[in-house]
Amino acid sequence: EYAGSEPHLVGVLKGACPFMTDLAQAIDLPLTLDYIAVSSYGKATKSSGEVKLVKDLDQGLEGRDLLVVEDIVDTGLTLNYLVNLLKARGPRSLKVATLLSKPARRLVSVHVDYVGFTIEDEFVVGYGLDYNEKYRNLKDIVIYGG
Ligand code: 5GP
Repeated sequence: EYAGSEPHLVGVLKGACPFMTDLAQAIDLPLTLDYIAVSSYGKATKSSGEVKLVKDLDQGLEGRDLLVVEDIVDTGLTLNYLVNLLKARGPRSLKVATLLSKPARRLVSVHVDYVGFTIEDEFVVGYGLDYNEKYRNLKDIVIYGG
């Protein structure tokens, strides 16, 4: 789908890092990378979809073929915020790739172009995904058992 273009991959810190690296290495095209970090305002406001921008992109998006790379789409609130934020910066195209998706938990409908795996409503860790910042270094993705 990106043949003839130069995709600009934007990874969402920190969880998407291993996936971003593996995905970028699997794309046999010239491409560029950037990272963004967001966090939700906490439980009380989570259902309102309020998300805080923690680290902005280094590069502009004007005219670029943007591919947002996520670790997991759960309620969809984070991705919804990100897509709206990034669309406003004038990319030529915007697509979303997520390694994991939990459709059963969705609160807002958000379009995802590429889904690695659809999973049940379980909390998972490993391969970038954390619980209290731990387990990101696990090579496998496993259900967190406490
Ligand atoms: P959403 O805004 O879609 O509810 O949440 C997306 C973010 O919540 C993900 O980027 C991730 O940081 C976190 N998250 C959602 N589900 C899981 C999960 O099963 N395991 C981990 N480790 N994080 C999750």
